[in-house]
Amino acid sequence: MEATKERTLVIIKPDGVQRSLIGEIVKRYEQVGLKLIGIKMVIPTPEMAQAHYMVGGEEWLTSVGEKAMASYEKKGEKSPFATPRECGQAVLNRNARYMSAGPVVVMIWQGNRAVPLVRKMTGGTEPLSSDVGTIRGDFTLDSYALADLGERSVRNLIHASGEVSEAEKEIAIWFKPEEILSYRLIADEILYDINLDGILE
Ligand code: ADP
Repeated sequence: MEATKERTLVIIKPDGVQRSLIGEIVKRYEQVGLKLIGIKMVIPTPEMAQAHYMVGGEEWLTSVGEKAMASYEKKGEKSPFATPRECGQAVLNRNARYMSAGPVVVMIWQGNRAVPLVRKMTGGTEPLSSDVGTIRGDFTLDSYALADLGERSVRNLIHASGEVSEAEKEIAIWFKPEEILSYRLIADEILYDINLDGILE
C-alpha cells in the first residue's frame, strides 16, 4: 500500500468520552492532515475488547507483560506475577474491563505514514511520563503506580495501532468494508500533489 494511503485505527476510550475530549482529539488528527475515513460510537463488550487486544497474539501478551514487569523492577518492587505472560494476561483482563466500561469512539485515519504519525501524536502509554504536546501528555495524568493501586488499566484516553499489519487486523474487527469511505479531500492536493496544480487560475 502507498505510504500516503496508510490507515490506522484509533479508539477514544471510555475515559476520553467521559472527559468530553472527543472534539479535541479528533481536531488534533484532523489538523495534522490525516483523513477520517470511518467513525462510529459503540459500547464494546468485554469479548470485543479482548478480541481487539489479542490481534497482537501471544507476542503482545508477553511484551505487555515484560513492560509491566520492568516497571515493577524499576520501582524496586517485586512483580505480583511469576511470568511476563501471566502479567500480560492480567493487563488484558483489566483492559477488557476498561474498554467495555462505556461508549467509545472508533475511527480510521488515513494519510502519510498514519500509523507512526498517530503514535507520535498520541504519546507514550503512561500519561504521567508521556511527552508534553502529545494527547496523552496534555490531557491526562494517570500513572502505572496509580493504576496498580486500583488493580486497573492505566487510563490513557486513546488506543492507536502499533504496526500497519496490526492496524489492518484491528480495522477488520471494528468495521465492515462498506463502513470505510473512499473520498477526496481538497487538502489532499496540497499535501500530496507534487506540482501544487490547481491553485492558480
Ligand atoms: P499502547 O496503548 O501505548 O500501545 P500497550 O499496547 O502496551 O500500550 O498496552 C495497551 C493498553 O493496556 C495501554 O494503553 C494501557 O491502557 C494498558 N496497559 C498496558 N500496560 C499496562 C500496565 N503495566 N499497567 C496498567 N495498564 C497497562
